[in-house]
Amino acid sequence: ATHLLWLRNDLRIHDNPALNAACRNPDAQVLALYIATPGQWRDHGMSARQAAFLLQNLHELSPALARRGIPLHYHQCDDFDQAVDWVDEFCRRQQVSHLFYNYQYEYNEQLRDRRLEQQLGDRLVCQGLDDGVLLPPGAVLTGGGEMYKVYTPFRNAFLKALSTAEMECVPAPAQRLEGIETVSDDPMPFSYPQQDPGADWPAGEDAALSRLRTFCHQQVADYPQARDIPALDATSRLSPYLALGVLSPRQCYNRLLKAYPDLLIRPESGAFCWLNELIWRDFYRHLMVAYPRLAKHQPFIQWTGRVAWRQDDRLFDAWCAGLTGFPIVDAAMRQMNQTGWMHNRLRMITASFLVKDLLIDWRRGEQFFMSRLIDGDFCANNGGWQWAASTGTDAAPYFRIFNPTTQGRRFDEKGEFIRRWVPELAKVPDRYLHDPYSWQQAETGGLDYPRPIVDHAKARIRALAAYEAAKNPR
Ligand code: FAD
Repeated sequence: ATHLLWLRNDLRIHDNPALNAACRNPDAQVLALYIATPGQWRDHGMSARQAAFLLQNLHELSPALARRGIPLHYHQCDDFDQAVDWVDEFCRRQQVSHLFYNYQYEYNEQLRDRRLEQQLGDRLVCQGLDDGVLLPPGAVLTGGGEMYKVYTPFRNAFLKALSTAEMECVPAPAQRLEGIETVSDDPMPFSYPQQDPGADWPAGEDAALSRLRTFCHQQVADYPQARDIPALDATSRLSPYLALGVLSPRQCYNRLLKAYPDLLIRPESGAFCWLNELIWRDFYRHLMVAYPRLAKHQPFIQWTGRVAWRQDDRLFDAWCAGLTGFPIVDAAMRQMNQTGWMHNRLRMITASFLVKDLLIDWRRGEQFFMSRLIDGDFCANNGGWQWAASTGTDAAPYFRIFNPTTQGRRFDEKGEFIRRWVPELAKVPDRYLHDPYSWQQAETGGLDYPRPIVDHAKARIRALAAYEAAKNPR
């Protein structure tokens, strides 16, 4: 028998259900395949940093598979349709009897897998497995059998299901007797823009697992207090690995449980607080499957589709570049532009600023984030943007609007983070930092920093009116 593992968003050998299933029969020859789809990535707006990180991770994965007797074949075509056709042809050529892959839950990915199963299912055994989530979509439903529309009851039901679910990680495969001397195709650079993510993000599972271990043992206890302070390195920074499946959420959960065996009965603990974030991640995936319209640029709350957004490219460009005149917003946008990552609190502040203060369509922000983030993840990004725009599930009501200046004061009191990213403000004293033009010398000292591009108080009233008009059209 010849088994083929089609790798997508699961670039790891540990806890990889499809790889594990492909290797179960000790006599089978096992091949692995990765197909780059630059046309599809362009449609999805993948960032150049994420593309480079993806390739770096393939370079780590390929020898790890080869050492176990599994050659990685590599191919590039344009989009998912072509990828399915190519898998079809590859299976014929290699006389593949069984095809294994881990599911992905985004809309186009689901369509691709359905097509794959229709096209190849008569000829060979196609086996899709759940992965990339703690619990598969559909596993946590209301008493009426529906997906929860609000996070907290979802989480409560989720925790109950989690305590009884089979959550063991599957091991990395042993070396195979067949195919000991394997040669892998060297993953070639894709025809897609790439930008080196730099030393902050070493590629490969070992790097991800070691970061996970350190975080669980040394940092997670302080997570509840420290996680909202962007100047601190207090969150796991595992998102780029989770986004590409270099690490699985099950691995995170099991490592956490090992360090904190009473995790599920101590909701006040740091470990529980971190688990809660992993459950948010699952929540947005479960929603995406239950409500495919979320994948089609539509809001969850339908009346918010009527908000009259402003088309102002000058303001949008200022936001993108970190030149809004609001120090916390600018520092955050520059952090993302320069590193590909942004702290969660700042994602909320900058998203709220674009949508509520500038009244610019959240979908433009969603797209811009995707084009810059190394951890770009369609479900989490869409969920985060809809949350910030109050268009999503359990949204903070639209009339709750962040004040960017007070948010800055609260979460970056001494301006440590702001000074790191906005050097123009270096000489502004702490007490004026969040509102630099209130410093008298700003006028005379020639501060080389933009004045605020909106008046927050007025913008707030304008946003309320726009949402109100959309909700109650005349
Ligand atoms: P930690 O605090 O250590 O959390 C652990 C993991 O849990 C993260 O790696 C991530 O996988 C998951 N997680 C944490 N918070 C959330 C959340 N609110 N929603 C979903 N999953 C979460 N996350 C992405 O992975 N990709 C995105 O493209 C993305 N876009 C976002 C856009 C907006 C507007 C907002 C408000 C949030 C977005 N998030 C996104 C969620 C969150 O900001 C990041 O996951 C987090 O900042 C990553 O840092 P970390 O790994 O140190 O997180």
